[in-house]
Amino acid sequence: MPQTGQAQSPLACKFGGTSLAGAAQIKRVASIVRADPRRRVIVVSAPGKRSASDKKVTDLLYLCHHTLREGLSAASIFALIRERYVEMAQDLGIEGMPGWLDEVEAGMVAGAKREDSADWLASRGEYLQARLVACYLGARFVDAADLIRFTEDGWLDPSSYETIARTLGPTIASNRLSETAPESLVVVPGFYGRDANGRIKTFSRGGSDVTGAIVARAVGAAAYENWTDVDGLMMADPRLIPNARPIREVTYRELRELSYMGASVLHEEAVFPVREAGIPIHIRNTNAPELPGTWIRSTRPNAELPVVGIAGRKGFSTIQIEKSLMNQERGFGRRALQILESHGISFEHTPTSIDSMSVIMHEEELRERRVAVVDEIQRVLQPDRLEILDGMALIATVGQGMSHTIGIAARLFGALGNAGINIRMIDQGASEINIITGVMNEDYEAAIRAIYDTFVPAD
Ligand code: ASP
Repeated sequence: MPQTGQAQSPLACKFGGTSLAGAAQIKRVASIVRADPRRRVIVVSAPGKRSASDKKVTDLLYLCHHTLREGLSAASIFALIRERYVEMAQDLGIEGMPGWLDEVEAGMVAGAKREDSADWLASRGEYLQARLVACYLGARFVDAADLIRFTEDGWLDPSSYETIARTLGPTIASNRLSETAPESLVVVPGFYGRDANGRIKTFSRGGSDVTGAIVARAVGAAAYENWTDVDGLMMADPRLIPNARPIREVTYRELRELSYMGASVLHEEAVFPVREAGIPIHIRNTNAPELPGTWIRSTRPNAELPVVGIAGRKGFSTIQIEKSLMNQERGFGRRALQILESHGISFEHTPTSIDSMSVIMHEEELRERRVAVVDEIQRVLQPDRLEILDGMALIATVGQGMSHTIGIAARLFGALGNAGINIRMIDQGASEINIITGVMNEDYEAAIRAIYDTFVPAD
């Protein structure tokens, strides 16, 4: 525990929707915040689901918007939202809630027909939650609309960092480290800011993670704590490997490779602001704060395991093009990719050999343009053979230790071979921290298990 009064970098903490789903959860959050006086900046999501059948407040707000757009009354949906906040406020002994809710409801009805009303309304879940949490913690509420700016093209305006540092700085620099006095703790709603015209604009769904990262960077946080409802990142999807080991440490690059292949714990855009500033992200479980969670940093010591995680996705298609002397035909690959580009298809991998080239893409991207793409390839490239293979799954085996450990590929392919799984494609990117294998969709689960069992020794 840090010493009271000592000048030190704060921790920026973001609490997700399930961490704030009800009064009991908010009480938990408060005890986490109070347990370490470095926790000075708190970013909150809107209340999430309390059970599998429950609705997220953000979803209800979007529903209000759509209902109003259809010219119907959203009063009964808003009543559900009101009920949730009023119940939490009552349980927490907060008085201002009805007033804030009236304001939002009036704004919703008045702005129903406006272009920007969807973003404004969706952002109110975070706004109301931050009001509530700030009151409960006795903290200063700072509206994200006064901190975060977007440019004309919808990107984050870098001047936001300066605004945040200037606005939150004095509060965070306050010396009253051991007290939860309003002047030492700030609560900021996640998910939104203002666009270049001053209107409220949200990030994409799950965007409070991005707000947390931006704020962490702006205040020069020692770490960005992302509090959620899981123990951290797992070495493989727990739905396939029920006792998958948690990942203690992972680098930003490794995380990027894993998330690209479907492992999700953070909003994709949340990594960049902190990564550039070298601020580590610490994923933690609000319901089990005693657990170590997962650290995401620029570098990590080489652990005993060369593989840090395994992730994958189903549903890829491969276009296989064969043509004798393809290797001598300049611009062949470019023309092939250009055809895809002109049909709005992005490719994932392009393994090649001397006289053949494969292009791998998401099945749904190809689906409707299939005939047109095939026709154009036939006409422009005049291949000897052209075939499309659907139903492929890609599996990424990721770890920085792989590049300097001999025999990883042999073990990986051996594992799949022993499990009787046919490998359809292999790609090791230039980064050498990732080997991608393509197998048929029906072999996907067995392949993940085989790779996991090979690289992760049983406890
Ligand atoms: N409440 C928003 C959503 O549901 C943003 C967030 O939770 O991060 O997408």
